Amino acid sequence: MRTYTLAPALLVFGILILTTACATHAPKADSARGGDSPARSAGTDTGGTVDLSKIKGIRIVSDNSEDHSCRWATAYPDVPGATAMTAAMKRTVERRVADFLGKEGDGPATHCGGLPTGTEGAPAAELNISFSFLVASGDVLGVRLTTFQGPSVGDGLDTRTYWYDGKEKTGESARGLIADDSQGAFAAAVQKKLEKREGADPTVLDDTTDRAAYLDDMSFTSDGDLDVDFDRGTVGVPAGGRYTVTLPKATVAPWLSDLGKRVLRQTLSPSAGLDLGATSTPTVPVPTYTVEGDDTTDCAKVTCIALTFDDGPAAPHTATLLTYLAKYNARATFFTVGQNVAAHPELVRAEAEAGHEVGNHSWNHPDLTRLTPTQIASQLARTDTAIKAATGEEATLFRPPYGAINSTVRAATSLSPVLWDVDTEDWKYPDASRVAQYVISKADRNDVVLLHDIHRTSVEAVPEILRTLTARGYHFVTVSHLRAAL
Ligand code: ZN
Repeated sequence: MRTYTLAPALLVFGILILTTACATHAPKADSARGGDSPARSAGTDTGGTVDLSKIKGIRIVSDNSEDHSCRWATAYPDVPGATAMTAAMKRTVERRVADFLGKEGDGPATHCGGLPTGTEGAPAAELNISFSFLVASGDVLGVRLTTFQGPSVGDGLDTRTYWYDGKEKTGESARGLIADDSQGAFAAAVQKKLEKREGADPTVLDDTTDRAAYLDDMSFTSDGDLDVDFDRGTVGVPAGGRYTVTLPKATVAPWLSDLGKRVLRQTLSPSAGLDLGATSTPTVPVPTYTVEGDDTTDCAKVTCIALTFDDGPAAPHTATLLTYLAKYNARATFFTVGQNVAAHPELVRAEAEAGHEVGNHSWNHPDLTRLTPTQIASQLARTDTAIKAATGEEATLFRPPYGAINSTVRAATSLSPVLWDVDTEDWKYPDASRVAQYVISKADRNDVVLLHDIHRTSVEAVPEILRTLTARGYHFVTVSHLRAAL
C-alpha cells in the first residue's frame, strides 16, 4: 500500500495541525456510530452494539505475546458459516504479526516492530488487533478489524471492514457493498467530498489499484448513511489524520450491491437472529460446578498459592479448565478480557459460580500506559460492565496487560492492580509438561502464578500442577483470599 512519506519539518507542522484538527473538526458522522468512531480513533476500538453472546457458536481467536519488551495482542471472531471471512481476517492477522516480528515463514523473530528487542530504555513496540461487530443479523455479517502499531508518529491505526454474504456464501471487502457497475460513480462521489477537505488529495483514487486498497473501510450509520473511512496518510497528508466521508443514504442507495442493500436493511432494522446457513455450530458444554459459602482455607496455617489465568474466557479451553479445577477443589482467579467476556458470558458466569474470582484485564489488551486517563477508564469500565452482566458482581481486581503500569494507570481506576510472582511464559512455550514443571519447580508459599487459559497447552498443564502441589500440601485460593490473609 502506498502512503505519503513524512519529512521531519512536515512532521512537526503536522503534529501541530493534527492536535488542532482533532480538537475542532471531529466529523459529524462519528456521533451517529454510537461511540464507535471516537474509540477507534483513540486506538482502542471498544466495539459496537451487537450482542455477541447471541451469535451461536462464536469463537474469539486470540493470541497475545505478553512480552514486556515486544507487545502484541490479536483477536478476531470465528463465526460458524462465515468461513471465507474468517480466513481473510486470519490471513491479515498472521501477516501483520509476522511483519511486526520480522518473521519469514516459520523462522525466528528478527525484530520487534522495526525496533531491536530487549534494548534497555528503548520504547517498547506494540501491535494490537481488535475487532468490533458492525452487523450480525439476517444473512449478513460485518466486522471491523482495528490495528494499532506503535510507537508511531501519528495515530498508528489502520482499520478495515470485512463482510460476509450468507446468501451467496462469499466473503467481501468493503467495496462489495457497492454494485460493480456503480464503482466509478461511487468513487467520483467520494472524491468530490474529499476535495473540500483540507490536506486531502482525492486524485490518488484515480488509480484503480490504489482505490481498491484505500476504500477498505465502509459501514452504515444508524441513519443509513454510508461512512467511508480512510487511514491516516492514504488520501491526504499524514497531518490531516483520518478522513471520514459520509454519503447520504439517498445518494448511495442506487449504487448498492445486493449485499449492500441487505446490510443497509439489517443496519436499520436488524432481524432477531443471524443465519449464515452454517452446516455445523460447535457447542461448548458449560460446566455447572457450584460452591456455597466463602472459602474457609486459613492461609496463616496452611500453605496457599494463587493460580491466575489471563486473556480468556476462551471456548473450549476455559470450560476444560473449570473441570480440572473442580476435581481438586481448587479456586483460581481469572483476569478476563472484555471482548471475550462479551462473547462468552456463560463461561464467566460458570467461573464465578464455581467459586473462582473474576478480575478485569482490559477490553482488548492494549498497553494501558500509552493511553489517556479517559481511555484507560473506558477500557476497564466496559470490561467491568461485561463482567457484572455475566456474574452479577463487580470485579475488585485488575491486571494491566503486559504488567505495564504507571501512576496514570493507577489513578484512572479504583480497581486494585495484581501482578505476579511466577511467570510461566506459557504463551511462548506451547508445551504442557514444560509449563507444569516450571510452576512446580518455582512454586512458593503465597505466590501468584501467571498462566493463560487461551492456550490449550496451558490448560493441559493444570492437572499435573494441581496433583503435584496438592500432594505437597498446597491449597489453591483466589488472589483476594490470599491478600486478605497476608
Ligand atoms: Zn494478558
